[in-house]
Amino acid sequence: MFDGDFGNPASTSHVFGWEAEEHVENARVQLAQLIGADPLEIVWTSGATESDNLALKGLAEHYGSGHIVTSAYEHKAVLDTCDYLEKRGIRVTYITPGADGLVSPKHVEDAIEDDTFVVSVMHVNNEIGVLNDIASIGRICRDRNVFFHVDAAQSVGKVPVNVVDLNIDMLSISGHKIYGPKGIGALYVRRAASIPLQAIIHGGGHERGLRSGTLATHQIVGIGAAASVCEQELERESERLRNLRERLWAHLRQIPDVHLNGSEDQRIPGLINVGFGGVDGETLLMALNDVAVSSGSACTSATVEPSYVLRAIGVADELASASLRFTVGRFTTEEEVDFAVTRIADVVHTLRDRRATR
Ligand SMILES: *Cc1c(COP(=O)(O)O)cnc(C)c1O
Repeated sequence: MFDGDFGNPASTSHVFGWEAEEHVENARVQLAQLIGADPLEIVWTSGATESDNLALKGLAEHYGSGHIVTSAYEHKAVLDTCDYLEKRGIRVTYITPGADGLVSPKHVEDAIEDDTFVVSVMHVNNEIGVLNDIASIGRICRDRNVFFHVDAAQSVGKVPVNVVDLNIDMLSISGHKIYGPKGIGALYVRRAASIPLQAIIHGGGHERGLRSGTLATHQIVGIGAAASVCEQELERESERLRNLRERLWAHLRQIPDVHLNGSEDQRIPGLINVGFGGVDGETLLMALNDVAVSSGSACTSATVEPSYVLRAIGVADELASASLRFTVGRFTTEEEVDFAVTRIADVVHTLRDRRATR
């Protein structure tokens, strides 16, 4: 259906352009619907990384100086952007989350200064799966006249997200985190807030001047379809995933000296991060090569640095490096969970026995 769609959605003078534009606008409606936004509030980007960059650099560009409040366990797309802005004279406060892995709204309130222009706090942390109280933080920001940006790459499509109820001004979304294509994402920009956001990519003035460049039509169609499926399946799927995750944790917690990292109940259905006392994290990961788990941070396997996220929530280095991130998703079955827990229990016992007899 779409493979003949070679028109440029910005070419408004011929039918091929119109068709492409219709598909793009349809996807905009689909994505907007998933987060309770108006389609005109969606700006297409290449992913959540670019959305985070646009939100923070785009505002910093307008203000030129001032202060940002964020948290110490944000995704690198936010942390590295803040680091870049600090080198250009913007001040940044990094809030330390609690031992439950949550960013306290009170701490955010206390960190806001007279020249704070934006607060950026993630909805769900990608390593530990905890769910922050975004509505309360958003309420504080609105009362204090500070813009509020939320990296929602890990919450959209997994839990209900309504930008109006949550008092959000800007929200970052990633296509591939909602079972859509890679290389596509969006930034929600609240219209009523009159946000003085400046573009960081200049060109033909696409996306109301906020993000120039020919739209990635095929990817946009894909993220729109993915958003629709998420919306339809959200309730049933989150129930199913919660059951799977509880099944997983119910088994894992029977192993002695096992710790859940982050709050037990304030979390998304499909993700837990678990520390195994008295085992070496890397050996554990290697021994579990038939189970698709990961250590805290993605793919820095050459250096076995404990995760900065686990460090930020106060997990000791030894336990942090013996922690694994488990996700269950749309294609995970009960049998796979049972297989995984049996393997993990075996491996943990073997590694501990080996240690004990050495
Ligand atoms: C994956 C992720 C990103 C980056 O998203 P891309 O679309 O891959 O750029 C940003 N923030 C969080 C919390 C993520 O999980």
